[in-house]
Formats: sequence, structure tokens, C-alpha cells
Amino acid sequence: MKPVDTLRRPLRDLRISVTDRCNFRCTYCMPKEVYGKDFQFLEREALLSFGEIHRLVRLFREQGVEKVRITGGEPLVRRKIERLIEMLAYPGDLDLTLTTNGSLLKQKAQALKDAGLKRVTVSLDALDNTVFKAMNDVDFPVDRVLEGIDEAERVGLTPVKINMVVKRGVNDADAIAMARRFKGSGHIVRFIEFMDVGHTNGWKLDEVVPSAELAARIGQAFPIEPIEANYRGEVAERWRYLDGSGEIGFISSVTQAFCSDCTRARLSAEGKLYTCLFATEGTDFRAPLRADASDEVLTGLIRQVWSRREDRYSELRSAGAAQADKPRVHKIEMSYIGG
Ligand code: SAM
Repeated sequence: MKPVDTLRRPLRDLRISVTDRCNFRCTYCMPKEVYGKDFQFLEREALLSFGEIHRLVRLFREQGVEKVRITGGEPLVRRKIERLIEMLAYPGDLDLTLTTNGSLLKQKAQALKDAGLKRVTVSLDALDNTVFKAMNDVDFPVDRVLEGIDEAERVGLTPVKINMVVKRGVNDADAIAMARRFKGSGHIVRFIEFMDVGHTNGWKLDEVVPSAELAARIGQAFPIEPIEANYRGEVAERWRYLDGSGEIGFISSVTQAFCSDCTRARLSAEGKLYTCLFATEGTDFRAPLRADASDEVLTGLIRQVWSRREDRYSELRSAGAAQADKPRVHKIEMSYIGG
């Protein structure tokens, strides 16, 4: 029997962070003041090896995981990442995707496709070059990301999903341009509410643009209507353009928490398993892996962690429950656990 948690949610998705490093310093995710020259990233030996990740994925799949997303930090800065993709892609029945900031996608897209990757999600917060550079804070030009998206399309890593985190007063004015740019392209733009993950991003509720507000704004420019989810537990609410030129999505983790359908576990780059993006504690898999634990022992650990899971942070936050925040003094950072 595959495990369910205390709220009867199955384990379906695994997000694997392959590095805590990133070549961007997005102000809301890895602000330079914190992630500067002196920041201690994980040492190479601390990272799970590709062999270790591959083994864990096999065991997680036996417990119900159908979808694996490779993330980070920036996953494309991990050396020979395509080798890991190749290992996970065989024998081909896993829904395998990757989330990237797109900066290295132009160079890497073909190798990733050849290795067996099916699709990519590209984070892109603005089309306006000045806004984009200000947000990534390393002066990275937006055109290079757009070239990466074009290359992903050319090699068939499609449909490309494009995730835009929307912050009021920072990039919300660019949302309509983003919709316009990718309307009719076959790519799917998803607008994400700025979330209160971690501690370093100085999150404030008034910087969140609720999806309902954004949908109304976009709908005025281009008529849209909501459509059915592809499957239960789909994170993005789907909308389509009435003129038939494609769809967009909204991920409303702040205004419409979706904890009740959350089937995701997250593995950090050093092998800690977290059962919520807002978790404070993870369960270490690296030590048992490196102590030659048997498959049975590791499987037992996966089952134990999942069956005890009771997280529903975002729902508690929406309900204004004090316990949503009080015990969370050590919330993990998005760049550590991956988006
Ligand atoms: N480097 C990769 C990328 O850029 O997609 C993968 C890791 S990144 C942490 C994953 C996603 O998390 C990005 O789309 C990023 O914008 C998003 N993210 C980071 N902090 C966030 C926050 N506070 N609220 C919402 N999304 C956030």
C-alpha cells in the first residue's frame, strides 16, 4: 500500500533541488545582502550525488511518486546536469521536468532534450529589460532568457511554462505585456503570487497582487475564461483566451491556499526531505544513504515521514491562525529547497 498522510493526501510529486547556488540574486529570493561573497553555500561533497538521487527517486516512485521536478538554486549551474536527467529519464515512464531561470537554457536545451527531459518551466519576472535586470540584480539581460525559451521550443521541450512572480509596484505593470508576448505562442504563462517563504525576502502582504485582481486586469486587455483543471491537485488555476489563442494560469498560494490537494515532497540538495515549502525541519536521507542503508530502511523512512505529515501552512495562514507563524522561526529559504 502506498502511504497517505494524516489528511489522506498521497505522495505524488517530488521536487529535487540539485544545488543551493544560483547565478541570479533575485531581490525577493536571494538578496545580495544575504547571499553575498561571504555566504557559505553547500560544499560539493555535501550535495547528493546523481547516483544517490537516482536511487532515492526509484524508492520514491515505489511509494507513489509520478512526477519529478528538478530545481534549485539554479539547476543548470550544477555540472553535467544532463547526466542526471539521462539517469532519471530511463525507462521513460516518469513525468520529468525542470525549472530554470533560463540564463543557460540556450546552451543547454538540446543536451537536456537529448537526455530525455520532457518539458521546462522558465522563471521570467519581466519583459522590460530595466525591470528584469533590477529584479535579478546581476544585470542579466532579458533577451538572453527569451533566446533560451526560443531554443527550448526549437528542440521540443514543450509546452514551455513561463512563471512570473508578481510583486505590486515592482513588476505588476508588466503582466499584460507578458500575456501579450506569449499569447498564441503555445507557451503557458503562469502568474504567481509573491509568497512568504523563508525570511530573507522581507515579504509584506501588500506586495502581493491577488490572482483575482490580476485576472481581471488581464481580462480587460484580452478576454479570458476559467477552464477545468487537468487533474485534481493541479496548482495553477487555468484560464483560456476567448479568441482561442491559448491559456494562462494563476498560482494563488497566498489568496487561495491549496494545501488540501498538496501531494508534493521536496528534497534539498543535501538530501533533506521536507513535506511543505514552509517547513522548518527536514528529514535527513544523506546519512543513511552514505551508511549503506538498505532499500527497506530508506523506504521505511519515506513512509514514516509521509504518513506523519500534517502540514497545511498556507491554509492556516489564510485562516489567520497564529500557529501558522509562531513556530516557524526557522522557515527554510526557497533557494535552498527549490520552488
Ligand atoms: N532557479 C530556478 C528558477 O529560477 O526557476 C529554480 C529555483 S527558483 C527558487 C524557483 C521559483 O521560485 C522561481 O520561479 C522563483 O521566482 C520562485 N520564487 C522564489 N521566491 C519566491 C517567493 N517568495 N514567492 C513566489 N515565488 C518565489
